[in-house]
Amino acid sequence: MSEPIVSIREVKKDSVDFILENVDMAFANSFRRTMIADVATVAIDMVEIDANTTVLPDEFIAHRLGMVPLISTNCEEGMKYSRDCNCIAGCEACAVWLILNKSCQGDDTIDVTSNDLEVVPGGFAGQYDMGTIADAEELAKRGQNFGHPVSKHEPGAKPVLLAKIRKGQELKIRCMARKGIAKEHAKWSPCSAVSFEYDPYNKLRHTTHWFEVDERGEWPLGRNAQEEEAPRDDEPFDYNAKPNKFYMEVETDGSLGPQEVIMKGLGELQEKLGLLIIGLKPPAEDDLMSGVNAQGDQAGGWPATSNAPVANGWGSPARGAANTWGNVGSDQGSPRANGWGAVAGSGSPRQNGWSGSPSGGASTWGGGAAAAGSGWGSPAAQQSNGWNV
Ligand SMILES: [Zn+2]
Repeated sequence: MSEPIVSIREVKKDSVDFILENVDMAFANSFRRTMIADVATVAIDMVEIDANTTVLPDEFIAHRLGMVPLISTNCEEGMKYSRDCNCIAGCEACAVWLILNKSCQGDDTIDVTSNDLEVVPGGFAGQYDMGTIADAEELAKRGQNFGHPVSKHEPGAKPVLLAKIRKGQELKIRCMARKGIAKEHAKWSPCSAVSFEYDPYNKLRHTTHWFEVDERGEWPLGRNAQEEEAPRDDEPFDYNAKPNKFYMEVETDGSLGPQEVIMKGLGELQEKLGLLIIGLKPPAEDDLMSGVNAQGDQAGGWPATSNAPVANGWGSPARGAANTWGNVGSDQGSPRANGWGAVAGSGSPRQNGWSGSPSGGASTWGGGAAAAGSGWGSPAAQQSNGWNV
């Protein structure tokens, strides 16, 4: 199969229509599902209702708030998952706070919509843990109006209707939005629809057209048929034919643009496949001893060193010297177990974590082999990618 080809047919603000060629159906569908379920966005995840005198129950309104698309441009890089954050109950790095305050004083029924949601920069004072200071560089990666409801800054866009209230009724709500993916909850999906069609003439007979009199008359061809050659009436059925041209349409809810959804979707898929390849790779004999991908084949993303295999990070000095994190041993050549650094002579396999360098210099954060060492691992003559630099 030759190189995949992408031909973009139409791009709009919230959608893209393209043809994907020279891939198999498994890839096309994995790509589709990754865009739907694995691309991170921000959505309301916690709601505190101070007042609700509308006709709708609290949980009904909370659910509607969760489904409101919020602008999530560059959410992947610009925001932390709350589970990865150091804070306790939400901070600027992992949360966006919004309030909704609306009451009806007049005689006419009024709409409460997503445009009534206001972002509160910095959150509600005293309410949550504000101890963590967000990384300014990370915050700067966020797109304009990050966390605001999608329709709010778009002229002509209709907001999401949340409730209708009449005289004397009010809604007073505080919300916290978090980063997430749609595999956890559909509200985090950046896509409203992702679809593809293939084989517009049904040459592969993957479907059966029900008809009364005339199959072709009753099943008019779509526009994708123009992209392919019509089958001849005397053409024999090819049992081995496989689809390899897919007509894809990606439509987003506005939280992310179609380009970002596609690029992040591809990135996610690549990462998943990469992890699968690493997971399926049989460990080398040395790896079983050292717990790391050392020596020989250094293709994996994990730290690897040459010569004496040394585990990653927090190393300790070589024989002769002692330092804070590691102890010193003189028994050269013996394999060591884990824990806070141990030193062995060059050539000895190491166990995982917190260990030291084979020989040469010492440093607090990982020793170097022969020549140099620098933080988080100990390089040696030959280097591979991964955590060690
Ligand atoms: Zn946080």
